[in-house]
Amino acid sequence: MSLTFEHVTLGQRVLFGTGKAADNLAAEVRRFGAQRVMVIASESEAAIAGQVTAGIEAALNYDDVAPHVPIEKAEKARTAAAEHGIDLLVCVGGGSTTGLAKAIALTTGLPIVAVPTTYAGSEATNVWGLTEAARKTTGVDDKVLPATVIYDASLTLSLPVELSVASGLNGMAHCIDSMWGPRVDPINQALAAEGIRALNQGLPGIVQDPQGLQGREQALYGAYLSAVAFASAGSGMHHKICHVLGGTWNMPHAQTHATVLPYVLAFNAPAAPDAAERIAAAFGTTDAVDGLNRLREQLDAPKALKDYGFAEENIAEAVDLILPVIPASNPRPGTKENLAALLRAATAGDDPKTLTDL
Ligand code: NAD
Repeated sequence: MSLTFEHVTLGQRVLFGTGKAADNLAAEVRRFGAQRVMVIASESEAAIAGQVTAGIEAALNYDDVAPHVPIEKAEKARTAAAEHGIDLLVCVGGGSTTGLAKAIALTTGLPIVAVPTTYAGSEATNVWGLTEAARKTTGVDDKVLPATVIYDASLTLSLPVELSVASGLNGMAHCIDSMWGPRVDPINQALAAEGIRALNQGLPGIVQDPQGLQGREQALYGAYLSAVAFASAGSGMHHKICHVLGGTWNMPHAQTHATVLPYVLAFNAPAAPDAAERIAAAFGTTDAVDGLNRLREQLDAPKALKDYGFAEENIAEAVDLILPVIPASNPRPGTKENLAALLRAATAGDDPKTLTDL
């Protein structure tokens, strides 16, 4: 078969170094020639942000951050940036904080230097999200892609193990869903496979030694790769499911991804043998579903959607919302019946392997 594809690589500078975030940030602020920096970090991220920004002067420290970027918060932050004559946005925190910086960049074109403290990966994508009247909209715009990302594993040491596991499996979901995303190509598949390998190595390390840096470095590296792969390949079936569940039933982002992933993998793997083989190899096994299950057992990963507020009686409505948005690229066609079976199994926490014979 001939190798023919179109691939776009997003332009971004990545500085990776444990214990180096403050120095790297000061150097980046000088490189930009920035005079009026807005530092964005939620209240619970303020201590980390204080440490990271010790070497720069902030014109504005901004902490009014909320999950899923409510439009009112975005507009307030845009006004604050304009009033303070901001020329560079620095965000220090998880995906919610990065999301607010992106919302400001979307309308102002201001550059972002992102310092992530979770494994969500928003810093490596050109995707923005805003919530208005309980409806989340997302879009793609290169203006929101952070110009520079500064990774420092020591900043993730305070992330509790349970949240590290869920957030890391959110990264794993980016990798696995990339394997059948609408713009899948050999480059984003290679990045996704290396992301799986790194997360599979790093996440158990965090569980065994939460204050150790080796596992956290691998997880952060894997999270970056996962997001680059995902930004390139686009949202597959897994992300469409989680987007609907999160938006309609207000479910926690990382935990929902962590729970749904094995079911989508078990559902698609039999219909996508090449992707399944790559995923299995990245896990160091011969069976993709077994590889993910083995990791999930090591991590004591989230198991059932019912534990996060999703009830069996919501399934019919969820199916109606998800079915029309499953990408045509999905290896196994979704039907009302098989999607309902997938959601039933994920709600109850049944063995994902029950889905491979649908
Ligand atoms: P989050 O940013 O809401 O963070 C979760 C919690 O962890 C928060 O309370 C935060 O203050 C805290 N926290 C963050 N870092 C910490 C640390 N090092 N130590 C202790 N506590 C810490 O959650 P998230 O999972 O990072 O991000 C989820 C959001 O990001 C969602 O809104 C999701 O839609 C978005 N997202 C966007 C993209 C994209 O490409 N646009 C990609 C992934 C996620």
